[in-house]
Amino acid sequence: MSVVTPMKYDEALAKYEPVLGIETHIELGTASKMFCGCATGFGAEPNTQVCPVCLGLPGALPVTNHAAIDGIIKIGLALNCRIVEWCRFARKNYFYPDMPKNFQISQYDEPLCVDGFLEVEVDGETYRVEIERVHMEEDTGKSLHVGGATGRIHGAVHSLVDYNRAGIPLVEIVTKPITATGEKAPLVARAYATELRELVRSLGVSDVRMEQGSMRCDVNVSLMPRGAAAWGTRTETKNVNSLRSVERSVRSEIERQAGVLSAGGTITQETRHFHEDTGTTTSGRSKEEAQDYRYFPEPDLVPMAPSREWVEELRATLPELPAARRRRVQAEWDLTDAELRDVVNAGALDCIEATIAAGADAGSARKWWLNELSRRATEQGVELADLPITPEQVARVQAMVVAGELNDKLARQVFEGVLAGEGGPDDVVAARGLKVVSDDGALAAIIDQVIADNAPVADKVRAGKTAAAGALVGAVMKATRGQADAGRARDLILQKLTTP
Ligand SMILES: [Zn+2]
Repeated sequence: MSVVTPMKYDEALAKYEPVLGIETHIELGTASKMFCGCATGFGAEPNTQVCPVCLGLPGALPVTNHAAIDGIIKIGLALNCRIVEWCRFARKNYFYPDMPKNFQISQYDEPLCVDGFLEVEVDGETYRVEIERVHMEEDTGKSLHVGGATGRIHGAVHSLVDYNRAGIPLVEIVTKPITATGEKAPLVARAYATELRELVRSLGVSDVRMEQGSMRCDVNVSLMPRGAAAWGTRTETKNVNSLRSVERSVRSEIERQAGVLSAGGTITQETRHFHEDTGTTTSGRSKEEAQDYRYFPEPDLVPMAPSREWVEELRATLPELPAARRRRVQAEWDLTDAELRDVVNAGALDCIEATIAAGADAGSARKWWLNELSRRATEQGVELADLPITPEQVARVQAMVVAGELNDKLARQVFEGVLAGEGGPDDVVAARGLKVVSDDGALAAIIDQVIADNAPVADKVRAGKTAAAGALVGAVMKATRGQADAGRARDLILQKLTTP
Protein backbone atom coordinates (compact mmCIF):
# COMPACT_ATOMS: atom_id res chain seq x y z
CA MET A 1 0.00 0.00 0.00
CA SER A 2 1.52 3.27 -1.05
CA VAL A 3 1.71 5.95 1.60
CA VAL A 4 0.58 9.37 0.49
CA THR A 5 1.71 12.45 2.39
CA PRO A 6 -1.20 14.34 3.92
CA MET A 7 -1.69 17.87 2.63
CA LYS A 8 -1.27 20.82 4.99
CA TYR A 9 -4.65 21.84 6.40
CA ASP A 10 -4.81 25.38 4.98
CA GLU A 11 -3.69 24.18 1.58
CA ALA A 12 -6.29 21.37 1.63
CA LEU A 13 -9.04 23.86 2.46
CA ALA A 14 -7.95 26.16 -0.34
CA LYS A 15 -8.42 23.33 -2.85
CA TYR A 16 -11.29 21.31 -1.39
CA GLU A 17 -14.62 21.82 0.33
CA PRO A 18 -15.33 19.27 3.08
CA VAL A 19 -18.75 17.65 3.53
CA LEU A 20 -19.45 16.03 6.88
CA GLY A 21 -22.00 13.61 8.22
CA ILE A 22 -22.18 12.46 11.83
CA GLU A 23 -23.90 9.36 13.17
CA THR A 24 -24.12 9.31 16.93
CA HIS A 25 -25.03 6.32 19.07
CA ILE A 26 -26.37 7.04 22.52
CA GLU A 27 -27.07 4.34 25.09
CA LEU A 28 -30.19 5.18 27.03
CA GLY A 29 -29.96 4.98 30.80
CA THR A 30 -33.01 2.76 31.27
CA ALA A 31 -33.03 0.30 34.17
CA SER A 32 -33.55 -2.67 31.87
CA LYS A 33 -32.55 -3.61 28.32
CA MET A 34 -34.43 -2.80 25.12
CA PHE A 35 -36.21 -6.11 24.60
CA CYS A 36 -35.77 -8.03 27.87
CA GLY A 37 -35.70 -7.40 31.62
CA CYS A 38 -31.93 -7.68 32.09
CA ALA A 39 -30.16 -5.00 34.14
CA THR A 40 -28.00 -2.43 32.34
CA GLY A 41 -25.47 -1.22 34.97
CA PHE A 42 -22.00 -0.35 33.68
CA GLY A 43 -19.02 -2.32 34.91
CA ALA A 44 -20.75 -5.51 36.13
CA GLU A 45 -18.94 -8.87 35.98
CA PRO A 46 -18.93 -10.07 32.36
CA ASN A 47 -21.97 -12.06 31.23
CA THR A 48 -23.91 -11.59 34.46
CA GLN A 49 -26.60 -9.35 32.90
CA VAL A 50 -27.87 -11.71 30.21
CA CYS A 51 -30.91 -13.87 29.49
CA PRO A 52 -32.27 -16.02 26.64
CA VAL A 53 -33.61 -12.94 24.81
CA CYS A 54 -30.42 -10.88 24.71
CA LEU A 55 -28.33 -14.02 24.11
CA GLY A 56 -30.53 -14.82 21.12
CA LEU A 57 -31.44 -18.33 22.27
CA PRO A 58 -33.97 -20.15 20.06
CA GLY A 59 -37.59 -19.41 20.88
CA ALA A 60 -36.91 -16.34 23.02
CA LEU A 61 -39.17 -13.42 22.16
CA PRO A 62 -38.43 -9.70 22.54
CA VAL A 63 -40.78 -7.18 24.20
CA THR A 64 -40.28 -3.45 23.63
CA ASN A 65 -39.14 -1.34 26.61
CA HIS A 66 -41.67 1.48 27.02
CA ALA A 67 -39.26 3.75 28.93
CA ALA A 68 -36.77 3.52 26.06
CA ILE A 69 -39.40 4.69 23.59
CA ASP A 70 -40.20 7.60 25.93
CA GLY A 71 -36.48 8.42 25.87
CA ILE A 72 -36.05 8.39 22.11
CA ILE A 73 -39.22 10.44 21.55
CA LYS A 74 -37.89 13.06 23.99
CA ILE A 75 -34.61 13.17 22.07
CA GLY A 76 -36.54 13.49 18.79
CA LEU A 77 -38.67 16.32 20.13
CA ALA A 78 -35.66 18.16 21.56
CA LEU A 79 -34.04 17.88 18.13
CA ASN A 80 -37.11 19.44 16.49
CA CYS A 81 -38.00 16.20 14.71
CA ARG A 82 -41.37 15.00 13.53
CA ILE A 83 -42.43 11.89 15.45
CA VAL A 84 -44.01 9.53 12.94
CA GLU A 85 -47.40 8.02 13.67
CA TRP A 86 -46.43 4.48 12.71
CA CYS A 87 -43.15 2.67 12.20
CA ARG A 88 -41.53 -0.71 12.58
CA PHE A 89 -38.37 -2.31 13.80
CA ALA A 90 -36.21 -4.06 11.22
CA ARG A 91 -33.66 -6.84 11.37
CA LYS A 92 -30.19 -5.86 10.28
CA ASN A 93 -28.53 -9.14 9.41
CA TYR A 94 -24.83 -9.59 9.82
CA PHE A 95 -22.46 -11.86 11.68
CA TYR A 96 -20.27 -10.51 14.42
CA PRO A 97 -19.06 -12.43 17.47
CA ASP A 98 -20.35 -9.78 19.88
CA MET A 99 -23.89 -10.17 18.50
CA PRO A 100 -25.21 -13.60 19.43
CA LYS A 101 -28.46 -13.40 17.42
CA ASN A 102 -26.56 -12.74 14.18
CA PHE A 103 -28.89 -9.84 13.61
CA GLN A 104 -29.45 -6.54 15.31
CA ILE A 105 -32.95 -5.20 15.89
CA SER A 106 -32.82 -1.71 14.42
CA GLN A 107 -34.92 0.52 12.21
CA TYR A 108 -34.33 0.84 8.50
CA ASP A 109 -36.66 2.74 6.17
CA GLU A 110 -39.18 3.56 8.90
CA PRO A 111 -37.39 5.52 11.63
CA LEU A 112 -39.36 6.88 14.58
CA CYS A 113 -38.17 10.51 14.40
CA VAL A 114 -37.36 12.41 11.20
CA ASP A 115 -36.42 15.83 9.81
CA GLY A 116 -35.07 17.74 12.78
CA PHE A 117 -32.24 20.18 13.32
CA LEU A 118 -29.78 21.32 15.95
CA GLU A 119 -28.18 24.75 15.92
CA VAL A 120 -24.56 24.99 17.02
CA GLU A 121 -22.29 27.96 17.42
CA VAL A 122 -18.67 28.28 16.36
CA ASP A 123 -16.74 31.53 16.84
CA GLY A 124 -19.93 33.53 17.14
CA GLU A 125 -21.49 32.07 14.01
CA THR A 126 -24.53 29.79 14.07
CA TYR A 127 -24.59 26.60 11.98
CA ARG A 128 -27.82 24.69 11.56
CA VAL A 129 -27.13 20.97 11.44
CA GLU A 130 -30.06 19.16 9.84
CA ILE A 131 -31.06 15.86 11.41
CA GLU A 132 -32.09 13.18 8.95
CA ARG A 133 -33.41 10.64 11.43
CA VAL A 134 -33.36 9.39 14.97
CA HIS A 135 -34.02 5.69 15.29
CA MET A 136 -34.16 3.01 17.95
CA GLU A 137 -31.95 -0.06 18.05
CA GLU A 138 -30.10 -2.29 20.48
CA ASP A 139 -26.43 -2.30 21.40
CA THR A 140 -24.11 -5.21 20.71
CA GLY A 141 -21.90 -7.02 23.21
CA LYS A 142 -18.23 -6.23 23.60
CA SER A 143 -15.22 -8.18 22.38
CA LEU A 144 -12.04 -8.15 24.41
CA HIS A 145 -8.92 -9.14 22.51
CA VAL A 146 -6.24 -10.56 24.76
CA GLY A 147 -2.52 -10.86 24.18
CA GLY A 148 -1.96 -8.19 21.51
CA ALA A 149 -0.12 -4.97 22.18
CA THR A 150 -2.97 -2.63 21.24
CA GLY A 151 -6.06 -4.41 22.53
CA ARG A 152 -7.17 -4.78 18.90
CA ILE A 153 -7.76 -8.14 17.30
CA HIS A 154 -4.53 -7.86 15.33
CA GLY A 155 -1.85 -9.76 17.22
CA ALA A 156 -4.23 -11.05 19.89
CA VAL A 157 -3.83 -14.59 21.22
CA HIS A 158 -7.51 -15.08 21.93
CA SER A 159 -10.71 -13.07 22.29
CA LEU A 160 -13.37 -12.93 25.00
CA VAL A 161 -16.94 -11.73 24.60
CA ASP A 162 -19.07 -9.95 27.19
CA TYR A 163 -22.79 -9.84 26.40
CA ASN A 164 -23.79 -7.52 29.26
CA ARG A 165 -24.08 -4.66 26.77
CA ALA A 166 -26.01 -6.73 24.19
CA GLY A 167 -29.54 -5.40 24.01
CA ILE A 168 -29.03 -2.10 25.83
CA PRO A 169 -31.30 0.50 24.20
CA LEU A 170 -29.35 2.47 21.66
CA VAL A 171 -30.54 5.60 19.89
CA GLU A 172 -28.87 6.49 16.61
CA ILE A 173 -28.97 10.11 15.49
CA VAL A 174 -28.02 10.70 11.86
CA THR A 175 -27.35 14.14 10.41
CA LYS A 176 -27.98 15.15 6.85
CA PRO A 177 -24.79 16.14 4.98
CA ILE A 178 -23.25 19.15 6.70
CA THR A 179 -21.97 21.50 3.99
CA ALA A 180 -20.51 24.99 3.65
CA THR A 181 -18.50 24.87 6.85
CA GLY A 182 -15.16 25.42 5.06
CA GLU A 183 -12.16 25.54 7.35
CA LYS A 184 -14.47 25.44 10.38
CA ALA A 185 -15.53 21.84 9.58
CA PRO A 186 -13.60 20.22 12.47
CA LEU A 187 -14.94 22.83 14.92
CA VAL A 188 -18.51 22.46 13.66
CA ALA A 189 -18.25 18.69 14.11
CA ARG A 190 -17.02 19.15 17.65
CA ALA A 191 -19.62 21.82 18.45
CA TYR A 192 -22.37 19.51 17.17
CA ALA A 193 -21.20 16.60 19.33
CA THR A 194 -20.87 18.93 22.32
CA GLU A 195 -24.32 20.45 21.88
CA LEU A 196 -25.92 17.05 21.28
CA ARG A 197 -24.32 15.69 24.45
CA GLU A 198 -25.55 18.69 26.47
CA LEU A 199 -29.02 18.34 24.98
CA VAL A 200 -29.35 14.63 25.77
CA ARG A 201 -27.87 15.14 29.23
CA SER A 202 -30.43 17.85 29.97
CA LEU A 203 -33.19 15.38 29.08
CA GLY A 204 -31.92 12.95 31.71
CA VAL A 205 -32.25 9.95 29.37
CA SER A 206 -28.55 9.01 29.20
CA ASP A 207 -25.37 9.83 31.07
CA VAL A 208 -23.73 10.44 27.64
CA ARG A 209 -20.25 9.52 28.87
CA MET A 210 -18.05 9.32 25.81
CA GLU A 211 -15.18 7.75 27.76
CA GLN A 212 -17.48 4.89 28.87
CA GLY A 213 -18.98 4.51 25.41
CA SER A 214 -22.52 5.60 26.23
CA MET A 215 -22.11 8.21 23.48
CA ARG A 216 -20.05 7.37 20.38
CA CYS A 217 -19.69 9.26 17.13
CA ASP A 218 -19.07 7.91 13.64
CA VAL A 219 -17.75 10.79 11.58
CA ASN A 220 -18.14 10.82 7.79
CA VAL A 221 -15.89 13.08 5.76
CA SER A 222 -15.64 13.63 2.03
CA LEU A 223 -13.97 16.33 -0.04
CA MET A 224 -14.98 17.92 -3.28
CA PRO A 225 -12.81 20.25 -5.35
CA ARG A 226 -13.87 23.86 -4.80
CA GLY A 227 -16.45 24.78 -7.39
CA ALA A 228 -17.38 21.15 -8.15
CA ALA A 229 -21.02 20.08 -8.08
CA ALA A 230 -20.69 16.42 -7.10
CA TRP A 231 -19.63 15.22 -3.67
CA GLY A 232 -16.60 13.05 -3.25
CA THR A 233 -16.40 9.54 -1.82
CA ARG A 234 -16.72 9.53 1.94
CA THR A 235 -14.97 7.63 4.69
CA GLU A 236 -16.48 6.86 8.06
CA THR A 237 -14.29 7.10 11.14
CA LYS A 238 -15.91 4.77 13.68
CA ASN A 239 -16.56 5.10 17.40
CA VAL A 240 -14.74 8.34 18.06
CA ASN A 241 -14.93 8.60 21.82
CA SER A 242 -14.10 12.14 22.87
CA LEU A 243 -15.12 15.61 21.72
CA ARG A 244 -11.52 16.50 21.04
CA SER A 245 -11.09 13.38 18.93
CA VAL A 246 -14.16 14.29 16.86
CA GLU A 247 -12.44 17.55 15.92
CA ARG A 248 -9.03 15.95 15.34
CA SER A 249 -10.40 13.06 13.28
CA VAL A 250 -12.13 15.45 10.87
CA ARG A 251 -9.01 17.54 10.50
CA SER A 252 -6.79 14.52 9.93
CA GLU A 253 -9.21 12.99 7.40
CA ILE A 254 -9.34 16.27 5.46
CA GLU A 255 -5.55 16.39 5.32
CA ARG A 256 -5.26 12.72 4.35
CA GLN A 257 -7.96 12.77 1.68
CA ALA A 258 -6.59 15.98 0.17
CA GLY A 259 -3.17 14.33 -0.05
CA VAL A 260 -4.61 11.27 -1.80
CA LEU A 261 -6.76 13.27 -4.22
CA SER A 262 -4.11 15.77 -5.21
CA ALA A 263 -1.67 12.91 -5.86
CA GLY A 264 -4.18 11.59 -8.41
CA GLY A 265 -5.52 8.85 -6.15
CA THR A 266 -9.09 7.95 -5.28
CA ILE A 267 -10.76 7.70 -1.89
CA THR A 268 -11.98 4.25 -0.93
CA GLN A 269 -15.39 4.10 0.73
CA GLU A 270 -14.46 2.44 4.00
CA THR A 271 -14.58 2.67 7.74
CA ARG A 272 -11.51 4.01 9.50
CA HIS A 273 -10.16 4.01 13.05
CA PHE A 274 -8.95 7.12 14.83
CA HIS A 275 -5.80 6.83 16.93
CA GLU A 276 -5.51 9.19 19.87
CA ASP A 277 -1.72 8.90 20.02
CA THR A 278 -0.95 9.93 16.45
CA GLY A 279 -4.09 11.98 15.78
CA THR A 280 -4.56 10.13 12.49
CA THR A 281 -6.91 7.50 11.09
CA THR A 282 -6.11 4.11 9.58
CA SER A 283 -8.14 1.94 7.24
CA GLY A 284 -10.75 -0.39 8.77
CA ARG A 285 -12.98 -2.45 6.52
CA SER A 286 -14.61 -1.58 3.22
CA LYS A 287 -18.03 -0.15 3.91
CA GLU A 288 -21.06 -2.34 3.44
CA GLU A 289 -24.01 -1.06 1.45
CA ALA A 290 -27.48 -1.25 2.93
CA GLN A 291 -28.37 -4.24 0.73
CA ASP A 292 -25.56 -6.24 2.35
CA TYR A 293 -27.55 -6.29 5.58
CA ARG A 294 -30.68 -7.89 4.08
CA TYR A 295 -32.97 -5.71 6.18
CA PHE A 296 -36.53 -6.92 6.67
CA PRO A 297 -39.29 -5.95 9.11
CA GLU A 298 -38.79 -7.57 12.51
CA PRO A 299 -41.47 -10.30 12.70
CA ASP A 300 -41.34 -10.75 16.48
CA LEU A 301 -42.36 -7.19 17.38
CA VAL A 302 -45.54 -5.22 16.78
CA PRO A 303 -45.18 -1.86 15.00
CA MET A 304 -44.75 1.29 17.06
CA ALA A 305 -47.64 3.74 16.76
CA PRO A 306 -47.14 6.48 19.34
CA SER A 307 -50.42 8.33 19.85
CA ARG A 308 -50.37 12.11 19.49
CA GLU A 309 -51.48 12.37 23.12
CA TRP A 310 -48.44 10.37 24.23
CA VAL A 311 -46.13 12.55 22.15
CA GLU A 312 -47.65 15.74 23.55
CA GLU A 313 -47.41 14.42 27.10
CA LEU A 314 -43.71 13.83 26.54
CA ARG A 315 -43.26 17.25 24.95
CA ALA A 316 -44.76 18.79 28.07
CA THR A 317 -42.11 17.08 30.22
CA LEU A 318 -39.14 18.51 28.28
CA PRO A 319 -36.91 20.63 30.50
CA GLU A 320 -35.41 23.97 29.56
CA LEU A 321 -33.01 22.99 26.76
CA PRO A 322 -29.35 24.06 26.80
CA ALA A 323 -29.62 26.75 24.11
CA ALA A 324 -32.60 28.40 25.81
CA ARG A 325 -30.87 28.14 29.14
CA ARG A 326 -27.75 29.85 27.80
CA ARG A 327 -29.85 32.70 26.40
CA ARG A 328 -31.61 33.09 29.76
CA VAL A 329 -28.47 33.18 31.90
CA GLN A 330 -26.76 35.52 29.46
CA ALA A 331 -29.57 38.01 30.04
CA GLU A 332 -29.89 37.37 33.78
CA TRP A 333 -26.16 37.57 34.47
CA ASP A 334 -25.63 40.38 31.97
CA LEU A 335 -22.88 38.61 30.01
CA THR A 336 -21.29 39.46 26.69
CA ASP A 337 -21.15 36.65 24.11
CA ALA A 338 -17.49 36.11 24.93
CA GLU A 339 -18.17 35.94 28.68
CA LEU A 340 -20.94 33.40 28.11
CA ARG A 341 -18.59 31.31 25.97
CA ASP A 342 -16.02 31.32 28.77
CA VAL A 343 -18.61 30.10 31.24
CA VAL A 344 -19.81 27.34 28.92
CA ASN A 345 -16.32 26.25 27.89
CA ALA A 346 -15.25 26.07 31.52
CA GLY A 347 -18.23 23.79 32.23
CA ALA A 348 -19.20 26.27 34.93
CA LEU A 349 -22.86 26.92 34.14
CA ASP A 350 -24.33 24.52 36.71
CA CYS A 351 -21.83 25.55 39.39
CA ILE A 352 -22.46 29.26 38.94
CA GLU A 353 -26.22 28.89 38.78
CA ALA A 354 -26.25 26.83 41.99
CA THR A 355 -23.97 29.36 43.70
CA ILE A 356 -26.35 32.16 42.80
CA ALA A 357 -29.26 30.07 44.05
CA ALA A 358 -27.35 29.75 47.34
CA GLY A 359 -27.27 33.53 47.70
CA ALA A 360 -24.21 34.88 45.87
CA ASP A 361 -24.48 37.63 43.25
CA ALA A 362 -23.89 36.58 39.64
CA GLY A 363 -20.65 38.53 39.19
CA SER A 364 -18.94 37.08 42.27
CA ALA A 365 -20.17 33.55 41.60
CA ARG A 366 -18.76 33.75 38.09
CA LYS A 367 -15.51 35.28 39.28
CA TRP A 368 -14.76 32.54 41.82
CA TRP A 369 -15.65 29.62 39.55
CA LEU A 370 -13.90 30.95 36.44
CA ASN A 371 -10.73 32.20 38.11
CA GLU A 372 -9.69 30.68 41.39
CA LEU A 373 -11.59 27.40 41.15
CA SER A 374 -10.98 26.81 37.43
CA ARG A 375 -7.27 27.24 38.05
CA ARG A 376 -7.34 24.68 40.83
CA ALA A 377 -9.41 22.24 38.76
CA THR A 378 -6.84 22.50 35.98
CA GLU A 379 -4.01 21.94 38.47
CA GLN A 380 -5.71 18.82 39.79
CA GLY A 381 -6.77 17.61 36.34
CA VAL A 382 -10.46 17.34 37.26
CA GLU A 383 -13.69 18.84 35.96
CA LEU A 384 -14.86 21.96 37.76
CA ALA A 385 -17.95 20.18 39.05
CA ASP A 386 -15.79 17.41 40.52
CA LEU A 387 -13.80 19.73 42.80
CA PRO A 388 -14.49 18.88 46.46
CA ILE A 389 -16.33 22.14 47.10
CA THR A 390 -20.05 22.82 46.83
CA PRO A 391 -21.77 25.86 45.34
CA GLU A 392 -23.24 26.48 48.82
CA GLN A 393 -19.71 26.69 50.24
CA VAL A 394 -18.65 29.13 47.53
CA ALA A 395 -21.72 31.24 48.31
CA ARG A 396 -20.83 31.15 52.03
CA VAL A 397 -17.31 32.44 51.32
CA GLN A 398 -18.75 35.22 49.19
CA ALA A 399 -21.21 36.11 51.98
CA MET A 400 -18.25 36.55 54.33
CA VAL A 401 -16.56 38.81 51.76
CA VAL A 402 -19.70 40.92 51.49
CA ALA A 403 -19.91 41.14 55.29
CA GLY A 404 -16.33 42.42 55.37
CA GLU A 405 -15.13 39.38 57.33
CA LEU A 406 -12.91 38.22 54.48
CA ASN A 407 -11.14 40.00 51.66
CA ASP A 408 -10.41 38.34 48.31
CA LYS A 409 -6.97 37.25 49.37
CA LEU A 410 -8.27 35.55 52.51
CA ALA A 411 -11.17 34.07 50.55
CA ARG A 412 -8.67 32.32 48.30
CA GLN A 413 -7.05 30.82 51.38
CA VAL A 414 -10.46 29.61 52.55
CA PHE A 415 -11.01 27.91 49.17
CA GLU A 416 -7.59 26.33 49.47
CA GLY A 417 -8.50 24.96 52.91
CA VAL A 418 -11.89 23.62 51.81
CA LEU A 419 -10.33 21.92 48.77
CA ALA A 420 -7.64 20.42 51.01
CA GLY A 421 -10.35 18.76 53.09
CA GLU A 422 -10.05 21.02 56.15
CA GLY A 423 -13.85 21.30 56.42
CA GLY A 424 -16.37 23.93 55.38
CA PRO A 425 -15.56 27.65 54.99
CA ASP A 426 -16.38 28.47 58.63
CA ASP A 427 -14.17 25.62 59.84
CA VAL A 428 -11.26 26.83 57.72
CA VAL A 429 -11.69 30.45 58.84
CA ALA A 430 -11.69 29.36 62.49
CA ALA A 431 -8.84 26.86 62.22
CA ARG A 432 -6.58 29.15 60.19
CA GLY A 433 -7.56 32.34 62.01
CA LEU A 434 -8.46 34.06 58.77
CA LYS A 435 -10.69 36.92 59.91
CA VAL A 436 -10.16 40.35 58.43
CA VAL A 437 -8.87 42.83 61.00
CA SER A 438 -11.45 45.60 60.77
CA ASP A 439 -11.64 46.36 64.43
CA ASP A 440 -10.73 50.07 64.55
CA GLY A 441 -8.83 49.81 67.82
CA ALA A 442 -6.53 47.06 66.56
CA LEU A 443 -6.10 48.78 63.19
CA ALA A 444 -5.37 52.19 64.73
CA ALA A 445 -2.41 50.85 66.66
CA ILE A 446 -0.96 49.28 63.53
CA ILE A 447 -1.59 52.45 61.52
CA ASP A 448 0.20 54.62 64.10
CA GLN A 449 3.21 52.36 63.84
CA VAL A 450 3.12 52.42 60.00
CA ILE A 451 2.90 56.23 59.95
CA ALA A 452 5.85 56.49 62.33
CA ASP A 453 7.88 54.10 60.16
CA ASN A 454 7.03 55.95 56.93
CA ALA A 455 7.23 59.60 57.92
CA PRO A 456 8.15 61.01 54.47
CA VAL A 457 5.17 59.28 52.87
CA ALA A 458 2.87 60.43 55.65
CA ASP A 459 4.05 64.01 55.08
CA LYS A 460 3.10 63.79 51.42
CA VAL A 461 -0.40 62.68 52.38
CA ARG A 462 -0.61 65.52 54.89
CA ALA A 463 0.37 67.90 52.07
CA GLY A 464 -2.67 66.74 50.08
CA LYS A 465 -1.21 63.95 47.95
CA THR A 466 -3.82 61.41 49.04
CA ALA A 467 -2.72 58.95 46.34
CA ALA A 468 0.40 58.36 48.41
CA ALA A 469 -1.81 56.77 51.09
CA GLY A 470 -1.75 53.59 48.97
CA ALA A 471 1.80 52.87 50.13
CA LEU A 472 0.69 53.17 53.76
CA VAL A 473 -2.29 50.85 53.16
CA GLY A 474 0.16 48.38 51.61
CA ALA A 475 2.34 48.57 54.71
CA VAL A 476 -0.71 47.93 56.92
CA MET A 477 -1.66 44.90 54.82
CA LYS A 478 1.88 43.62 55.09
CA ALA A 479 1.94 44.12 58.85
CA THR A 480 -1.32 42.16 59.20
CA ARG A 481 -0.32 39.45 56.70
CA GLY A 482 -3.18 40.48 54.43
CA GLN A 483 -5.85 40.26 57.10
CA ALA A 484 -6.65 43.95 57.40
CA ASP A 485 -9.75 45.40 55.80
CA ALA A 486 -7.94 47.50 53.21
CA GLY A 487 -10.82 49.94 52.66
CA ARG A 488 -11.21 50.58 56.35
CA ALA A 489 -7.45 51.00 56.79
CA ARG A 490 -7.38 53.61 54.02
CA ASP A 491 -10.26 55.55 55.62
CA LEU A 492 -8.52 55.57 58.99
CA ILE A 493 -5.18 56.66 57.51
CA LEU A 494 -6.75 59.56 55.62
CA GLN A 495 -8.77 60.55 58.67
CA LYS A 496 -5.66 60.63 60.79
CA LEU A 497 -3.47 62.55 58.34
CA THR A 498 -5.84 64.98 56.66
CA THR A 499 -8.37 65.90 59.31
CA PRO A 500 -7.41 69.33 60.67
ZN1 LIG B 1 -31.63 -10.15 28.58
